[in-house]
Amino acid sequence: MHTASVLEEKANTALKKYFGYDQFRKNQHEIIQHFLSGQDGLVIMPTGGGKSICFQLPALLFEGLVLVISPLIALMKDQVDALNVNGIEATYFNSSQSAADQQEVLNQVAQKKLKLLYVAPESLSGLQPILNSNYISGIAIDEAHCISSWGHDFRPSYQQLGFLKNQLPEVPILALTATADKATRTDILNQLNIPQARLFLNSFDRPNIFLTARPAVNRVQQIFDFIENKSGESGIIYCLSRKGTEGLAAKLEQKGYKAEAYHAGLNFEERNRIQENFVRDKTKIICATLAFGMGIDKSNVRYVIHYNMPKNIEGYYQEIGRAGRDGLASTALLFHTYADIIQLRKFTEGAGNEELQNAKLDRMKEFAEATHCRRRILLSYFGEYIEKDCGHCDNCKNPPVFFDGRILAQKMLSCIARLKQQEPASMVINVLRGSQNQSIREKGYYRIKTYGTGKDIAWQEWQHYLTQLINQGFCEIAFHQNNNLKLTQLSKKVLFENYPVQLSKPQEDKKQLSKVISK
Ligand code: ADP
Ligand code: ZN
Repeated sequence: MHTASVLEEKANTALKKYFGYDQFRKNQHEIIQHFLSGQDGLVIMPTGGGKSICFQLPALLFEGLVLVISPLIALMKDQVDALNVNGIEATYFNSSQSAADQQEVLNQVAQKKLKLLYVAPESLSGLQPILNSNYISGIAIDEAHCISSWGHDFRPSYQQLGFLKNQLPEVPILALTATADKATRTDILNQLNIPQARLFLNSFDRPNIFLTARPAVNRVQQIFDFIENKSGESGIIYCLSRKGTEGLAAKLEQKGYKAEAYHAGLNFEERNRIQENFVRDKTKIICATLAFGMGIDKSNVRYVIHYNMPKNIEGYYQEIGRAGRDGLASTALLFHTYADIIQLRKFTEGAGNEELQNAKLDRMKEFAEATHCRRRILLSYFGEYIEKDCGHCDNCKNPPVFFDGRILAQKMLSCIARLKQQEPASMVINVLRGSQNQSIREKGYYRIKTYGTGKDIAWQEWQHYLTQLINQGFCEIAFHQNNNLKLTQLSKKVLFENYPVQLSKPQEDKKQLSKVISK
């Protein structure tokens, strides 16, 4: 056994020799010592925080190898290549290999030639012959949130990993993830059979990322405005659908930007090519579904845009975390709209944990529509509380200005009432604005009293007010009934008791946008 100081020296030497770094980052050192001493741990560290070294470096000092469970076969080869370049004996074992190649890996293990072995959970059974402490000194579970259906990226193949602790009780397990809220953390530890594992929690704050969110009005134009003076910079734009990524990439190309779409429908080679071009700065903008970015090591992504709203804060946080890993100023721009929420709700319908998913979506929506410091909301979601507003988000930089919104609210709510709470937002706004469309003519809505009483206010502006009215509980969307707008108990107070309503003006013009976003 090593003594602590010898270990320390060996760790420092290995850090320099194999990774070229002079010192450990906050927490890395402690995590490594803990793992090397044979104890289980759970590491929560933001993307780019330096999780890999926490298990790669111990692998060099252990007797046997470190088995790395990773969900992403596509990335294993890159990870292994990078290690080999650094002179570390590493390989992977997965279903993309022939039986002969797999046997060769087993032979290498038996000859104790390897320090790291990457494996996807579904291929673990193939490793049974060497799954014992003769060969394995440590187990790292990367992207550990995948084990929990409470997390944001559940993978069924991760659920069987509990057997590892039973089969190899003396081998320490290090679970690592960038995002797991408190409930998910507990679930991860229970499922891995390591309830006593020590928690290593790094701050979630990424102070160099400017946080901003805006209503999804003329999104494409807003994006053009935003990237206008960012032509040399790299960015990722997340969309909900494959079609969305392709459409947006085409529009950007038309404008003269070098953009590509990336989604799960592309084959392995195409995806690799697109990733490479992005990493090498050949493609500046990637329009991607959430399949993009996991494990990509690119430090100079200057902005992450969410064209559509993510389904929860964990996913959002992980995605924006791909911006500004170099610590330089970066921006996270989020667009939000009820259309996205309705779409996302459809996805959760019938899912086993619909209620939980919807609760997470509600938190995401609250974040998107918040009128106070966004960093506070984000950090408190992960159990971190800051005492002061951050000064580096749109709401801090440009606090919304509120005005007496009673009349507007009364018009809106009265219109909902007169439409018998049987119409969705688009129709309510059209009636308020005195639209002459076919459906209004057919249904005779031009006869109702509030028809046209809001025609002096733009459509988007009404939408902005409606969002606020919903947030404040003055009306609500019936998600299971055609998304119709419904009145609430508070509506009556506004309609009949002149109850006060505070609303904020939208900040939509181009100048405002760049003012909010720059700096
Ligand atoms: P994560 O897996 O947490 O997203 P990585 O392990 O990929 O992060 O590390 C992110 C980046 O930080 C990589 O470029 C890595 O080489 C670098 N890095 C990690 N540890 C250190 C360190 N101690 N000193 C300097 N750079 C480091
Ligand atoms: Zn703030």
